Amino acid sequence: MTTLTITRPDDWHLHLRDGDMLTGILPETARDFGRAIIMPNLVPPVVRTTDAIAYRDRIMTALPDGSTFEPLMTLYLTEDTDPADVAAAHASGLIKAVKLYPAGATTNSASGVSDFDKVRPVLEKMAEIGLPLCFHGEVTDADIDIFDREAVFLDRVMDPIRRANPDLKVTLEHVTTKDGVDYVNAAENMGATITTHHLIITRNDILVGGIRPHYYCLPVAKRALHRDALVAAATSGNAKFFLGTDSAPHIDPLKESGCGCAGCFTATNTMSCLAHVFENEGKLENLERFASLNGPAHYGLASNADKITLRKSETPVEFPAKIETGAGPVTVFDPGFPLHWHVAE
Ligand SMILES: [Zn+2]
Repeated sequence: MTTLTITRPDDWHLHLRDGDMLTGILPETARDFGRAIIMPNLVPPVVRTTDAIAYRDRIMTALPDGSTFEPLMTLYLTEDTDPADVAAAHASGLIKAVKLYPAGATTNSASGVSDFDKVRPVLEKMAEIGLPLCFHGEVTDADIDIFDREAVFLDRVMDPIRRANPDLKVTLEHVTTKDGVDYVNAAENMGATITTHHLIITRNDILVGGIRPHYYCLPVAKRALHRDALVAAATSGNAKFFLGTDSAPHIDPLKESGCGCAGCFTATNTMSCLAHVFENEGKLENLERFASLNGPAHYGLASNADKITLRKSETPVEFPAKIETGAGPVTVFDPGFPLHWHVAE
């Protein structure tokens, strides 16, 4: 097979940042994707309806002329979030999800939740109105090894919240472990996003032969058995699993540093990388489910009306090594193998 036409994909987990970075990287997502769930972890975070409206306006202004890309906004859950504000933002159609970060879990998550009892009224309201909650699924306790933080989160945080709110629709974001895949498979009312890079790299790619900061992200990539469980889940066509790239740009000086930031920037070549992974598994026919159909179904939205066509070429496709933005250069994810598929139209 050398041509594949699928429903236009969406990205159910995306960081667009703000200002010159937003303007510089937004075209990379808008080129291939119809919509994206926009993460609210700006400084300060997108907490209230008014913040989300203002951020949406800045995104729309930064879009290339003629683009039909649609940002799907989210609110950042804090211990002070007002259930009535969340309900109003949902009723107006502005927001499609609320994001829960455990305090300190990742980039700009200092305002996240420490005391989960304090957010109980919001979660009850969300269950009532059918608004999904997206989890950054890692505990932040200093005594928990970084490679175990997702599995411990499922046990200590996710399970009690889900048991207390069985009607709450939940998305486990960027699942990175077999434990996470197994949990989601067994759970009602629950889906999970999988990133492009977690389908490709393992922790060896970060650490063997020297530290490679552009492969450092959170949750951190795990050992191969977990990566393989993610590949099996993504390529299976199972409706619970769908694409959320977590494409997260930082300028190179902030990555290539004594204390580098977490995030892989995959917006530019995600569809090429995914086609490679799915073809390798003999599952190209399930790429459309993963990238274009399962996500909208989870969020109760229609899939996109238009299509894209991927083509496979004999010679590898060249992608830019970096995207030059007004904020500085951003290195594009290197999958470590040549890419032959590209979005032709
Ligand atoms: Zn993220």
